[in-house]
Amino acid sequence: MLNKKSVDDINVKGQRVLVRCDFNVPLQDGKITDENRLVAALPTIKKLIADGGKVILCSHLGKPKGEPKPELSLAPVAVRLSELLGQEVKFAADPEVVGPNAKAAVEAMKDGEVILLENTRYRAEETKNGEEFSKELASLCDVFVNDAFGTAHRAHCSNVGVTKFVDTAVVGYLMQKEIDFLGNAVNNPERPFVAILGGAKVSSKISVIENLLEKVDTLIIGGGMAYTFMAGLGEEVGKSLLEEDYKEYAVNMMKKAEEKGVKLLIPVDTVVGDNFSNDCNFKVVGRGEIPADMEGLDIGPKTAELFANAIKGAKTVVWNGPMGCFEMPNFANGTIAIAKAMADLKDATTIIGGGDSAAAANQLGFGDKMSHISTGGGASLEFLEGKELPGVAAANDK
Ligand code: AMP
Repeated sequence: MLNKKSVDDINVKGQRVLVRCDFNVPLQDGKITDENRLVAALPTIKKLIADGGKVILCSHLGKPKGEPKPELSLAPVAVRLSELLGQEVKFAADPEVVGPNAKAAVEAMKDGEVILLENTRYRAEETKNGEEFSKELASLCDVFVNDAFGTAHRAHCSNVGVTKFVDTAVVGYLMQKEIDFLGNAVNNPERPFVAILGGAKVSSKISVIENLLEKVDTLIIGGGMAYTFMAGLGEEVGKSLLEEDYKEYAVNMMKKAEEKGVKLLIPVDTVVGDNFSNDCNFKVVGRGEIPADMEGLDIGPKTAELFANAIKGAKTVVWNGPMGCFEMPNFANGTIAIAKAMADLKDATTIIGGGDSAAAANQLGFGDKMSHISTGGGASLEFLEGKELPGVAAANDK
């Protein structure tokens, strides 16, 4: 259990409550194309409204690089959030984020009302955790709530700096849920515990591999990172993704797994294509048979079966990173097989660590079959590495 004070430990009646949410949602032509992060934020917001707080929401959106960029305004989020909440979320349009408009809007709030501030990254100090903007944010509130798991691995003004200037800083329900799910899986898993890692690179998941090898019964490696393991074993990988500098590391990880009695699985067959596109010429080849002029784009059917069988019977499963280039339908089968194997488990805790695998599971229709889909890709990776997240550390201890 997370040892931080939460929204259940405070009385917000009549108080101005600044809530850092993660409303960093994908937008296309001003329309939100995936609203999971908005839905995930609702329990905390509803609780604070019910308790009679003046609820001031803030978040970043994309990378405006310290300047007001109209296409990265949070205005569309206020509109959709009002609908989801069934209550008006007033948008405090203000290029300074905490400028005259925002201050006046907060001043006029009644208990139980909700406003949303403008994109915190309109201010250059935000990502530098600068004191000035942190103080300005703190001046708007009596109490601070951090419910933005997606940015918890960063120390910015709106999640860390602000806590230096408020007496009460607690976490929200989403943050609690994320840390409880990931924390239980990693530190107190029901066994067998299977972790699945995929995605593009070994180098971005080195520390995760190392940390998970200490915890899991089975570690499955797929996606682009698998070719570095194959190459480490001296196999031909053709034009597949390869990190030469990490070949030795990959071999060491395989040795370490053996020493620890952890089953480490890599693909036994591969779908290879003659170029990186959905309509390339492709075929399935066995281990060590990747032609020199082709590249691996997905795990093959035998691997999908091998991995699915390894997931069968698991009591805890954590998955981060797709098995292939799932964005191209011809190379999504491996990723679908993993999502399906996880979805088929009964009485197991199944967790998807955000990012691409979360998008894949949702897109492929398996989202509601998982115990937990994290709202933070980078944050869940850092958590799986065993790091302390600054956004969580900054909240008051219980
Ligand atoms: P990451 O952000 O490291 O989790 O990587 C996710 C990306 O890895 C996705 O966009 C996938 O398309 C890509 N990916 C997965 N498998 C492969 C592969 N075999 N070759 C190239 N890219 C891949």
